[in-house]
Amino acid sequence: MLNKIISESNIQKAKKLIDKSDKIIIITHISPDGDAIGSSLALYHFLLQTGKSVNVVVPNNFPGFLKWLKGAKDIVVKEWKENLVRELLDAADLIFCLDFSIPKRIDQLGPMVERSAAPKIMIDHHLHPEHFCDVTISHPEISSTSELIFRFICRLGMFEHIDKNIAECIYLGMMTDTGAFTYNSNSPYIYYIISELIEKGIDKDAIYDKVYNAYSESRLRMQGYLLCEKMKLFKEYRAALIVLSRDEQKKFQWRKGDTEGVVNIPLSIENIIFSVFIREDENMIKISLRSKGTFPANRFAAEIFNGGGHLNASGGEFFGSLEEAVTLFEEALPKYAEYLS
Ligand code: 5GP
Ligand code: MN
Repeated sequence: MLNKIISESNIQKAKKLIDKSDKIIIITHISPDGDAIGSSLALYHFLLQTGKSVNVVVPNNFPGFLKWLKGAKDIVVKEWKENLVRELLDAADLIFCLDFSIPKRIDQLGPMVERSAAPKIMIDHHLHPEHFCDVTISHPEISSTSELIFRFICRLGMFEHIDKNIAECIYLGMMTDTGAFTYNSNSPYIYYIISELIEKGIDKDAIYDKVYNAYSESRLRMQGYLLCEKMKLFKEYRAALIVLSRDEQKKFQWRKGDTEGVVNIPLSIENIIFSVFIREDENMIKISLRSKGTFPANRFAAEIFNGGGHLNASGGEFFGSLEEAVTLFEEALPKYAEYLS
């Protein structure tokens, strides 16, 4: 049996809002990952069954290895369809906010959502949710928003409505937010849910294959280059750094998703517990941070790179040059020596 996580009052409040609504928007965070897209599409398919008009809206594009999911082609990318997004938001009578806890994470959509009169329901697992939703279903102890969607549907008494498509989306999100069940994955309920999803007809091995064995040749070559030529170890701090410039991205025909997971690789070196990946983006520097054990990657992200996230997986942004970002990182390491050395 699945344990109860979401409070009964939140379930009842959400149920009322869903029953009353006709035009629902599901929004997830910028640079959507597997859990963002998986949880959004799972909820999308579920709500479509109830005969409502439903749209998934994302701030910008998402990686190709998520595009095979059913419904992925219907996702509205704000960057490409500004007017449509405005119309959808104006007409919406319910907004779901999935896999983010602060409006800043949906970029320019943030103020638009906050201004909207439509009621909002957050379903999320990030720390420190801000109070911009009418119903806040926030569970940082759960490893993925997709797992929360499974729990949410079950608690609405609609387990029977979870079909193979919904199950695939949920599994994909649970898998990608736990590194294919290699971290944040000790809860026995995860495996209970997986067994239910397999009963629904998913092929978990095929899903793994479509997500993790979908590299382009240039992506694999870039990964080799980054590990061989660009990875710098700071052994006295048990830390690693990889930096990728715009020129290098051009050389390897970088596309969104191509560097996903690169930041995790240095953690496979014995005694490295903190890994940082710094990538030069169009108009900012994007930083990804990963750690093992108790090292607070989210504190480092917040204090040094104006970001945040989970203890072992966090991110941030920097507005300046690549060199300045690297210097910031290198100068910050000694300040965390009590954890790292
Ligand atoms: P990633 O390195 O995969 O982009 O991000 C890992 C995690 O860090 C995300 O799931 C999210 O929780 C958090 N994160 C990433 N970028 C940011 C950011 O710019 N600000 C904040 N607050 N959190 C971020
Ligand atoms: Mn997530």
